[in-house]
Order: sequence, then structure tokens, then C-alpha cells
Amino acid sequence: MKTFKELIDYSCFEQFDIKKLQEYLVLPIKYDGIYFKCFICEKSNLKAFNIKGLVRSEYLNKDEILFFLSDINIRIKLFELAIKAKNSENIKDTSIEDFFSLLIKKAIEMRSSDIHIESLENNMVIRFRVDGNLKLFYIFENEFLFILSSYIKMISKLDITMSRLPMDGRFSLYIKNYKYDFRVSTMPTINGESIVIRVLDNKNIKKTIEELGFSKNIFDEVENITALTQGLVLVSGPTGSGKSTTLYSILKKLNTENKKIITIEDPVEYKLEQTQQVSVDEELGLSFITILKTVLRQDPDILLIGEIRDSDSLNIALQASLTGHLVLASIHANNSLETLSRLIDLKADRYLLSSALKYIISQRLVLNICQSCFQKGCVICNFTGFYNRSSIAEVLKIDESISSFIFRNVELKSIKEYLKTKGFKSMIDDGKQKVEKRITTIEEVYKVVNS
Ligand SMILES: [Zn+2]
Repeated sequence: MKTFKELIDYSCFEQFDIKKLQEYLVLPIKYDGIYFKCFICEKSNLKAFNIKGLVRSEYLNKDEILFFLSDINIRIKLFELAIKAKNSENIKDTSIEDFFSLLIKKAIEMRSSDIHIESLENNMVIRFRVDGNLKLFYIFENEFLFILSSYIKMISKLDITMSRLPMDGRFSLYIKNYKYDFRVSTMPTINGESIVIRVLDNKNIKKTIEELGFSKNIFDEVENITALTQGLVLVSGPTGSGKSTTLYSILKKLNTENKKIITIEDPVEYKLEQTQQVSVDEELGLSFITILKTVLRQDPDILLIGEIRDSDSLNIALQASLTGHLVLASIHANNSLETLSRLIDLKADRYLLSSALKYIISQRLVLNICQSCFQKGCVICNFTGFYNRSSIAEVLKIDESISSFIFRNVELKSIKEYLKTKGFKSMIDDGKQKVEKRITTIEEVYKVVNS
């Protein structure tokens, strides 16, 4: 991306009519006294656009130009505040605080999940992750990163003088009367520092099963899971495929006064009312296994295990699910059949596995086509053509036949054959249904399923 290397002088926008810039698709970025440097695209009309002075132009994607110009007033404001903060010697000056709250407000408006603040060789950049993809938002001089970094460390109660070791912290901010929590990770790099701020958005984790955007057949299967009283239910997929959101939504449905629910997470990020949540803390000696063993003496009805990673945790989970508990857990695997082979690789006891395992949900998140512009690019979708994501999934119900296959150590190939005869719908099939309904695109489905 070309803009990455370019420092933009926002003060040069003063002399332009922003509406005209949008109409003629011209993005001026600096003036060196002789030349105006501008980004243009194939559809730009530089002739109609009357710049006083000489123009040096470079090509940039049309949607990038429009995205940049759509919120130029906020960028100009951020630029002014950054300059002020950089030059200020007054302790009472609030420019950096104002810069930061404006930045966070903008990130939230854009529905960002993470804010990346990074030093490059010459400049610092700020990028937002929206619907899984990073979007470049702001570029400034590298020296500003130090000021911004100190401020972030201060509000996260971290050691401001520490820049040689990674640190983790947290802070909260009120935006439009809604309290947002943020998790901060700082890491020294060869160019300076990389700071990532995770937006801990409760709204997402509070979604009900109905709100996850599952197809009807998947939704019905997930509803069946909430009727179980014992057994093991696994949700599989790579990192960022929405596993936790699905697990939490199932848990929410099960969360009633007459059930004791315990969760073991690494770490607990979202609070769930009425449940007992425990964070893994290896340093304190609170290992996953230690907690798991203790938890079983706490008389739970339902257990949520953040992630099954090794044979020990798997075998305890299996035993728990055979002794009157419903165990929900996530596991890293690409699809439902690969989940079975992963369980076998983890040396699951075949007898326990065949009797305990009830369901495997395997899922991904696909980008939804923007319903305001249908992929033509608009302000609502930040000129990407996509807005929000929904789940595509496959649900493998462990019926008597599959249970017997597992017990008898039958090859996965045979299970696959059996599923074919049963009309099993794969994740790709589910994705195709969503393509037909114009919810997403076929390219997106293949991209996420093969990721
Ligand atoms: Zn749109």
C-alpha cells in the first residue's frame, strides 16, 4: 500500500473544498513549495480540479481515496492535536488525552476489534482491525509514538519508563455513556514499539444463538445442544473463527438459577453473570489441570473449558462429561472430521470418547456483503463492500453409528462415506447457501474455509 510510506500534511487540506476532492477523486497529501503531491485513481478528474501550482501524482485505489476523504475532518483534528501534543511543554495541556479519546471513539465507530499503533522505519502508523481485516487509518512522525505510548501506559497503569520489555495492561473509557474495556499489549521492536489495544466489546460476547447468523439447519442443531444434560460438545475452528462467541451464546441459554456453571479460561475476558469463572495463572500455580481437578469437586452441572490443548485436559474433560456433567470446549481443528483425528492424536481413550462426545460444531466467520451498496463501496462499509460477519458452520452429531466407528477405530474415510449417505452438510455447503441468499460471496467462503 503506497500511503504507508507517506507522511501526510493535513494542513494542506485547508485550501481545498472537501466535496470537490471527493467528486474529482483527488487526494492531496503535501505541498513542498513547488509541487502538490496527490494520490489519484483511473477515475480521477485532475483537469477539472484546479490546483494552484504544479502537481505530482501517484496512483492509489479509488476506494482508498474515498475512504480517506470520508472522514478527513477527524483526521485533520487528530493531526492538529498531535502537533499540539508534540510541541507542548505545558503539563496541563490535554492535547494527547483529546487525541487519544478521539482516536478510540473513531475506532469504535468503525467497529474495530483491535487498534494497532506501530513504529515503522520512518513513520508511525495506526491501523484498525475491522471484521477481521486491518485498515490503515493514520500516519504520523515517529517521535509522536513516544508521547502516545507514554500516555497509553499511564492510563493502563504501566511503567512509563519501560520500553525494553513487553507489558500487558488494561484501561476503561466511557464513550457515549457506554463503558468500554480495553486490553493493552506493548512490545519493543527494532524500529521502536508495537502497541495493540484490544476492544473488549461485551456486545459481541453477549449475542444470543439467534444473533449469531447461523443458517436455520445449523441453528436447530445448536438448539438441540442446549437440551443436553451431559456429554462433551466441541466447537472447532482456527483462531478468530468465532468459537468463543458460539460457546458463550450456548452457555447463556443454559444459564439458569438451577444450574451451576463453571468456566476455566486463559484468561477470563468477559464476565458472565451467575457463573463461576476461573482464570488460568501458571505463575501462581493455577494450571489448567489443577483448576480442572478442583472444579469437579465444586459440584458443577456445566463446565466450559476455554480450549483443549493436551491429552491430560482432554481426558479429564471426557471423564467429567461421563459423570453427569455437560462439558463445552473449543479445540483447534479445521473441520469436524479433522477434529476427530485431532482427538485421536491427543490419545483420547476411545471408549470414553465414543460414549462422551455428543456434537462437534466447526465454524468460520465470513464477511457479509454490505446491504447499503452491494459491494460498490460506501461510507457505511468504509469503502470495502463488506459489512459485519456471520458464521458458516457444520454440525457433526455423534450418533450411534459414528460412536461405534470411533470405538472400533474405523478410518475417517469410512466415517466420511457414512456421512455422505446421511446427507451431511459441510461448511462449504452452508457457505453456498449464504451465497445464494446474497449474504456473502463464493470467493469469501472458499477463502475462509481453506484458511
Ligand atoms: Zn457499502
